[in-house]
Amino acid sequence: MKTVVLTPSTHGLPAGWSARQFRDTASRAAAAWSYPQVPCGLTVTVAEPSDAWRAAPDGTNLLVVRQGSWCHNDRCGPQSTFPWRATAMTTAYPAGATGTAVKEGDVEINGAAFRFDEVAQVSSSRGAPEWHVPLEAVLVHEIGHVLGLRDACSGGLRAGGQPVISDCTPAERERVMFAGGRQSILSPADVGELCEMYPPADRQIRVGGGVAGVAPPPAVGIWLGVAIGLAALALAVRRVLTTRGRHG
Ligand SMILES: [Zn+2]
Repeated sequence: MKTVVLTPSTHGLPAGWSARQFRDTASRAAAAWSYPQVPCGLTVTVAEPSDAWRAAPDGTNLLVVRQGSWCHNDRCGPQSTFPWRATAMTTAYPAGATGTAVKEGDVEINGAAFRFDEVAQVSSSRGAPEWHVPLEAVLVHEIGHVLGLRDACSGGLRAGGQPVISDCTPAERERVMFAGGRQSILSPADVGELCEMYPPADRQIRVGGGVAGVAPPPAVGIWLGVAIGLAALALAVRRVLTTRGRHG
């Protein structure tokens, strides 16, 4: 069972949030990817908050809110200013790595443009609703990038930062890895992709749910094998089509 540890930063917190609230929300987002909430060979935990603030390949998977500017490590420039409408950006290491090749990922959160709600409620009296987003859903998506998943059904980002999401199926739109979505519970496709990368330690736990400890009948096993093979093929094609270092 692989373990991934996330470290929330106290350097920047969502406006009006305590370090404890930030950590608790990060813990719920981590649990969404973690055994036993999903039946893959992975646990995701959250460490005590740290005053670290730099996104760098230092062995720490950092979660940090940017407040004054929306730029990689607060340094703005042609390559480091993030798209304004992106709620968060994850930098994966080594650069360009995907899947289990990702050794570390640092999540920078756009506190300059967005206000984050602790629960998925938007009050229209508190400003333009589109700039209020539930932090838990944002973190669930970005943690997916830290774990090596890519955006579902993504044609990249427009110059303003909005994802290009034409021709997406309803099943793709249900995914937490759907760019611009606000889901905080993994869909079967999200779970399938995660279990492909981090197979269950006990192979008798069937991908996508089912009764633990009961082996599937042979026909189910064959079709499960075919489904996993197709998912792996689709994943490989997607990797070839979209290779980037950073993911919003
Ligand atoms: Zn993304």
